[in-house]
Amino acid sequence: MDAIIQLVQQSLPVFLTVVFIFSLLVGSFLNVVIYRLPIMMERSWKAEYQSYFHEDTPLDGAAPFNLVKPDSTCPHCGHKIRAWENIPVLSYLWLRGKCAGCGASISARYPLVELFTAAVCTFTAWHFGAGPQGLWAILIVYVLIALLFIDLDKMLLPDQLTLPLMWLGLVLSTQTVFVSTNDAIIGAAAGYLSLWSVYWLFKLLTGKEGMGYGDFKLLAALGAFTGWQGLPIIILLSSVVGAIAGITIMLVQRKGQSLAIPFGPYLAVAGYLTLLYKTQIIDVYLQWVFA
Ligand SMILES: [Zn+2]
Repeated sequence: MDAIIQLVQQSLPVFLTVVFIFSLLVGSFLNVVIYRLPIMMERSWKAEYQSYFHEDTPLDGAAPFNLVKPDSTCPHCGHKIRAWENIPVLSYLWLRGKCAGCGASISARYPLVELFTAAVCTFTAWHFGAGPQGLWAILIVYVLIALLFIDLDKMLLPDQLTLPLMWLGLVLSTQTVFVSTNDAIIGAAAGYLSLWSVYWLFKLLTGKEGMGYGDFKLLAALGAFTGWQGLPIIILLSSVVGAIAGITIMLVQRKGQSLAIPFGPYLAVAGYLTLLYKTQIIDVYLQWVFA
């Protein structure tokens, strides 16, 4: 075992290959999280509501539903996904994107999320190297990818993901993995309060809700990793990307209606870029300002 660990630490290609394959497997699990976590939350809200109002309507589906139970099945025919049909990317190619039971097509998003996870994590591993920063950054990327897709699908950033991410950032700061404890605590608090203030200002002025509490918690988590110095960069980057995406969507749809666009995906992408390139971005900015 020690020999293997030594090999991984000494050879960059070996390290990156291990990260790539492991992240494909995690990506496969993230597909499950992205699909099931919102359903689990909806069920628990319903249960809470019913117990609060003493309604005795039985909960639909008393069978357990979580990240491991029940087994994955085809939504069309109920065909149980066997182990060999569950190999990241390869099974999709082997099955030519079709269910082995009924031939219904499987969404290409599943293998794409797996490949995306593996690609981003391999790049992250290459950027930080085989040390604590690299390994923790990979874990952060896993959580951010789950948040990104859940928010795209459901306009939801689950507390079950944002809050542990923030606590992790604060704990890592005690070892100064990315930033010092001072910077992390101020980063988390300022991240939350900045969007919280914008939210209330916007709501008092317009009566509308521009974003959700999940966005505040996600920015708090990101601030715990990048420090308060990363916050202006994250807000700037996510606003720019969000504005470009929003205008594109409006132009493509050609409708005047105000459609709700989740802010979480932009925060996640901007937070990731800031985690990797904070110093470079600040340098470029300062050169530009004092040129
Ligand atoms: Zn099927």
